[in-house]
Amino acid sequence: MIVDVHYHLIPALPKVLAEHLVEDPLRAARSMGRKADRETMIKQALESWPDPTGEKLLASMKEAGIDFTCVCAVDNAANEMFTPELAQTQNKIVAEVARKNPDRIMALAGVDPRRPTAPDMLRQCLEEFGMKGLKYHPDDGYDPSGPESSKLLEIVQKHGGILLTHTGPWRPPSRCKYADPRLLADLAVDFPDLKVIAAHMGQIDWRPWAALATHQPNLYGDLAAFDTLAFAHYELFCWELRDLIDYAGVSKVLFGTDGPIFSIVEPVGTWIQLIKDLPAKAPPGIRFTEEEVNAILGGNAASLLGLG
Ligand SMILES: [Zn+2]
Repeated sequence: MIVDVHYHLIPALPKVLAEHLVEDPLRAARSMGRKADRETMIKQALESWPDPTGEKLLASMKEAGIDFTCVCAVDNAANEMFTPELAQTQNKIVAEVARKNPDRIMALAGVDPRRPTAPDMLRQCLEEFGMKGLKYHPDDGYDPSGPESSKLLEIVQKHGGILLTHTGPWRPPSRCKYADPRLLADLAVDFPDLKVIAAHMGQIDWRPWAALATHQPNLYGDLAAFDTLAFAHYELFCWELRDLIDYAGVSKVLFGTDGPIFSIVEPVGTWIQLIKDLPAKAPPGIRFTEEEVNAILGGNAASLLGLG
């Protein structure tokens, strides 16, 4: 079973947002030694990312052999483009895609905890729209374990939902200090039953995540964005993955894509194949087992999300 725990379902894509987001695949492509043209990528993004019905997602899952996807919406209150109304419209559309495909897709709500109406927005997402948890981008400027966030996490925990929260350095205007995995330490104390997925495991800064995941039973991490490292510097990726598994335990590592953002650089299927091939192709001195690969690609997520 293959499960992607981190996918952005984008109902609509204004050109200015495409221009901002495309910087990431552009950097990824260049680090992989590919020729990449900004204007071409913007065009590809505008054509392939907006997906209000989930049709494109289902097609890409079929092509890559992904059985189940956890999709999310994002709400960043510091960005003027986002209003509470827009956030809820987006949440409703994303939730509807999951509601129509319950055996393939589940949805996490994007609600910025700094909004005065955030608790009501989240309750509507969980109780009315049927969403299964919350997605944070705290690097927009808030502490994921701060008092405003706690009001939302109480609701998520009560509903048995999960929190997927961005961790790791990112380019400006990301306020990286709020994406430090260390900020997730208090969650294990204040919300011991809350299941938390640290998106990207802190990326290059994965050690603080691993240090916490060793001790926090409900702290997990996803491999989204590690594909760039894997394609650009395969041996380094293998060492890093081996080390982080050895520190945190393989059961804490989940497959994720951050799709559809990077699929304009490399199809998701290639990323999956690279992980499947680890037992056979990892450089001398680094060993991965089939069991580890199966756990990472889907077994761990299936247990965490309660998939049959
Ligand atoms: Zn993401």
